Amino acid sequence: MQDNLFDNTEIAFKDKSIFDLYRGYFIFKIISFPRIVYISKFILSFKLFYPLTKLILKSTMLKQFCGGQNEDDCKEIINDLNARYVYSILDYSVEGLENEVSFDETVSRTINLIKLNTNNNFPFIVFKPTGIGRFDLYEKISSNTNLSEKENIEWSKVKSRYDAICNAALANNVSVLIDAEESWIQSSIDEIYENLILKYNSEKAIVYNTVQSYRIDRLEYIEKLYHSFSTSDVHIGIKLVRGAYMEKERERSKVFNYLDPIHKTKKDTDESFNNCMTFMFKNAQLFSVFIGSHNEESNYLALKLINKYNIIKDKVWFSQLYGMSDHITYNLSNQGFNVAKYLPFGPFKGVIPYLFRRAEENTAVEGQTSRELFLYAKEIKRRNHSKL
Ligand SMILES: Cc1cc2nc3c(=O)[nH]c(=O)nc-3n(C[C@H](O)[C@H](O)[C@H](O)COP(=O)(O)OP(=O)(O)OC[C@H]3O[C@@H](n4cnc5c(N)ncnc54)[C@H](O)[C@@H]3O)c2cc1C
Repeated sequence: MQDNLFDNTEIAFKDKSIFDLYRGYFIFKIISFPRIVYISKFILSFKLFYPLTKLILKSTMLKQFCGGQNEDDCKEIINDLNARYVYSILDYSVEGLENEVSFDETVSRTINLIKLNTNNNFPFIVFKPTGIGRFDLYEKISSNTNLSEKENIEWSKVKSRYDAICNAALANNVSVLIDAEESWIQSSIDEIYENLILKYNSEKAIVYNTVQSYRIDRLEYIEKLYHSFSTSDVHIGIKLVRGAYMEKERERSKVFNYLDPIHKTKKDTDESFNNCMTFMFKNAQLFSVFIGSHNEESNYLALKLINKYNIIKDKVWFSQLYGMSDHITYNLSNQGFNVAKYLPFGPFKGVIPYLFRRAEENTAVEGQTSRELFLYAKEIKRRNHSKL
């Protein structure tokens, strides 16, 4: 495998018109200025400017990072991705209310998305744990706090929601990705996941838990899973990411005066990501790995490990967010690897926080925006030269 596989911008941006390329360049340029992102957020809080900002965001950020307002809006993008052997993972990116009605609605919506898989064209669905259960309840279970009788009933309902989703997924040959959120609710989710492994993951990994490598204890967690299940006839599905809540995690550990659960430096997080990945590839008879990352080095390492340990195609998935790191996505799919894009959708108002999170993430993550800008500029230049 070439060491410069991801440098090919012709493959990465094959579907984009020159106008799309300039728009992409413009968007990443704008969000490279933290102040502009901050001011836009401020302006949007005034209802008076809402129609204008809506119009601007719709033709820029929404087009770059979202599929549309509903499943039908996403169809064209899904087909375009499919034509290049990239699957879509539809991600309803609207935060619902914290009540039982909203939790049940999330389950119905997720099951409806599962049923879209009529032709093995939607191999994954995703949901957030707090979309189907109350944050405080997860936190109580995670901290071993005694539950009231009412809370015990509520917790049983949460667990049966996981079951309902996994049952539908198994029946439709879809795998389920359980997103990871804050560390202080994660152990309750890990516990649910371990029970789901036994119930659903005997033939293949139907359920995947998410491991955030920025946490100092996650390699240990993966090793623990290995020791618990190495003699059972099951598959452990793990979505490996770096983690999206670093500032919040650090702040909370300071406020409540406990050990910061996050690695001290970016380098340590990178090392932890690569160590987790290496451990799982070494034990690929047990682990199915879903790599959610825009990091080139980690993706290159994955390719080396796949080669080194002779990992079969079905055991590994690569994934990036829609609108980001197309150079990784399309160059991998072009080589025949399993690749999927997270494709967020939802009513405009509901996806605004998602759009700003993407903008802030691109502003905060050193190097990410400048890399996107470099790639867009490179392809614009290449096309203009090829016309001469
Ligand atoms: C398909 C997909 C699914 C995802 N699902 C989830 C999910 O379920 N839960 C979740 O939390 N996130 C999720 N993410 C987001 C992910 O955790 C990262 O925030 C994001 O992808 C950036 O990491 P990277 O590997 O792509 O790239 P990079 O740019 O190489 O890494 C940036 C990341 O490094 C870490 N980091 C940055 N600075 C420091 C520092 N000073 N010290 C320690 N660590 C640092 C942070 O985690 C930061 O997000 C997902 C991402 C993708 C692509």
